[in-house]
Amino acid sequence: MRDIIIAGNWKMNKDMEAVRAFCKDVAGAFKGKVLGRVLPILAPAYPFLAIMLRELEGSLVKVAAQDTSSHADGAFTGEVSASMLASMGLQYCIVGHSERRAYHHESNEIIREKLLAVMDNGMKPILCIGETLEQRDGGITDQVILEQLDGCLRGVQLYSGKELIIAYEPVWAIGTGRNATGDQAQEVHRLIRKWLTDQYSKDLADSLSILYGGSVKPQNLKELLSQPDIDGGLIGGASLDSKSYLTMMDIAINHK
Ligand code: PEP
Repeated sequence: MRDIIIAGNWKMNKDMEAVRAFCKDVAGAFKGKVLGRVLPILAPAYPFLAIMLRELEGSLVKVAAQDTSSHADGAFTGEVSASMLASMGLQYCIVGHSERRAYHHESNEIIREKLLAVMDNGMKPILCIGETLEQRDGGITDQVILEQLDGCLRGVQLYSGKELIIAYEPVWAIGTGRNATGDQAQEVHRLIRKWLTDQYSKDLADSLSILYGGSVKPQNLKELLSQPDIDGGLIGGASLDSKSYLTMMDIAINHK
């Protein structure tokens, strides 16, 4: 059985007070709640990782970083290494988000280095892949997805499928209010799982959680989760409000 993951990517939003208030809401709502196979993950900005780890200790919520450096240490002003994140007790780190690819020119090769740094430090990467609108309209979605998988995972050893999470995030759906339909997303998720089967094994592909991201909200989560290869969401805007996040958690818990 795969985990169903409800992961919030807060990007560059919220200050300390807002982070604390959100943690209080979530910790209160989760007290005594049975989450089943639903795994909540939250990714605040770097300065708030330690606060969130402390405030949500014992609450079943996992904390993730939004990015890491591809370098191990040294003269890289402003960067944060995977070993630093692991030393805080973090277990998850997003890599390859389309905003990093677009605004920081991150290539599949750099993302692969980051992913390996995260894994080498005993954490799980949440690897983001997805096509732009131009690529979808040009009919090359499958090609782009396969290139990203090949480029980011070339030579990466996976043993159980539990050491990695993949998030399919069509760039045209991120922050636009325009989400892929369940069928559109399922088509790409099926392709990803087939690629994993071919490169690794069916057992591994069947164990690895593949999330959909792109304007997920309480109103469309159920439809997305009813697809056989969609195992949760990587959620930006709709994860910023605790009520909305908790509603999505409830939808996932009650789903299957
Ligand atoms: C994201 O940040 O990965 C994302 C999918 O954002 P949104 O849910 O706001 O589209």
